[in-house]
Amino acid sequence: MDAEKKLTFLLENKNLDEELKTIATKVYHGQRISEAEGVALYERGELGYLGVLANFIRERLHGDKTYFNRNFHIEPTNLCVYDCKFCSYSRLIKQREDGWEATMDEMLSQVKSYDNEPVTEVHIVGGVLPQYNMAFYMDLFSAIKRHRPSLHVKALTPVEYHYIFKKAKVDYATGMAMMKDAGLESMPGGGAEIFHPEIREQIAKDKCNAEQWLQIHEEWHKLGMHSNATMLYGHIEQYWHRVDHMERLRQLQDKTGGFQTFIPLKFRNKDNQMSYVAESTVVEDLRNYAISRIYLDNFPHIKAYWAMISRQTAQLALGFGVNDIDGTLDDTTKIYSMAGAEEQHPAMTTRELVELIRNTGRHPIERDTLYRVITDYKDVTFADEHADKQPKYYQLPVLNDK
Ligand code: SF4
Repeated sequence: MDAEKKLTFLLENKNLDEELKTIATKVYHGQRISEAEGVALYERGELGYLGVLANFIRERLHGDKTYFNRNFHIEPTNLCVYDCKFCSYSRLIKQREDGWEATMDEMLSQVKSYDNEPVTEVHIVGGVLPQYNMAFYMDLFSAIKRHRPSLHVKALTPVEYHYIFKKAKVDYATGMAMMKDAGLESMPGGGAEIFHPEIREQIAKDKCNAEQWLQIHEEWHKLGMHSNATMLYGHIEQYWHRVDHMERLRQLQDKTGGFQTFIPLKFRNKDNQMSYVAESTVVEDLRNYAISRIYLDNFPHIKAYWAMISRQTAQLALGFGVNDIDGTLDDTTKIYSMAGAEEQHPAMTTRELVELIRNTGRHPIERDTLYRVITDYKDVTFADEHADKQPKYYQLPVLNDK
């Protein structure tokens, strides 16, 4: 049954709760749901219902198209002046022996090590330290662009930008314009966590607050540039905090249109100060993807990081509103593995990503950072793809050789 028929069938269900039916009707007609309806989805929307709504929107926007990219990460340091309670990655400066601090040369060598690889994006994000200041990052971005102009630099979050601009006594608008001139092309979505101060002050106090995070993205969008947004869910927040978070993003997106992708980030509880908090279930993860797709009607894409939630859950998520599963990674990020993700050395070849998507019946597309198509894999076959599908001939037993 196709996505529209499933939704029509659901709307004919006489046992469906009236509010959930109103929400489903709005989704069918492409109308926006309210904050109260967002909370109702979290409180009463069961998995099957949410999947029908989210998949209807996903297929209306993208059909079966499912995006991935070829990327690698640079993580300059895992030392950080902040002390976010959920962070499994950062080693405070006093735990320096467990940390790393990459030099400019080391990071450029990492870029050069991909010279013969068809990667399209470098994703740079890590801890916050005083020596990685505005001048350092401007030099880094311009050196990368000089070396490989076609490599898209997606780097740093408002957490870093707020810190380095403040130290340099530069306002956000000027700072972001200077970063753009230095070679920055996109901003990833991190550092958003949960915006509401009731939660943010408990888990991530001191770093940029919600208004500052949103303002830096707004200044970036005003320059005609794009960025992503995340939400760290499944810890001490309540459902209405998640809706409040998405509402703030939806409002900014109405104003600027600069966000490309929303990425829900599952809280992982290994080796951090919130290890006593249980992790969300896979069912809750899928419900959350679906509600994100339904609520954020002005975001083009919803992404699931396969490295964070596992390959199998990423496949399932494609039926719950997700249309992007991120990239090849090449074991260049430790953010997910240090937090307890199943993938301890995250890396997938292009073929593995294509097959992962194809095995769900969807249509794999390699994109660049701005969702321009690099290769449409709908009808592409790999050199030896059918080798194991050739008819095999077995030696028949000889019953009577006389
Ligand atoms: S989440 Fe980011 S800002 Fe917070 S402690 Fe970890 S590395 Fe630092």
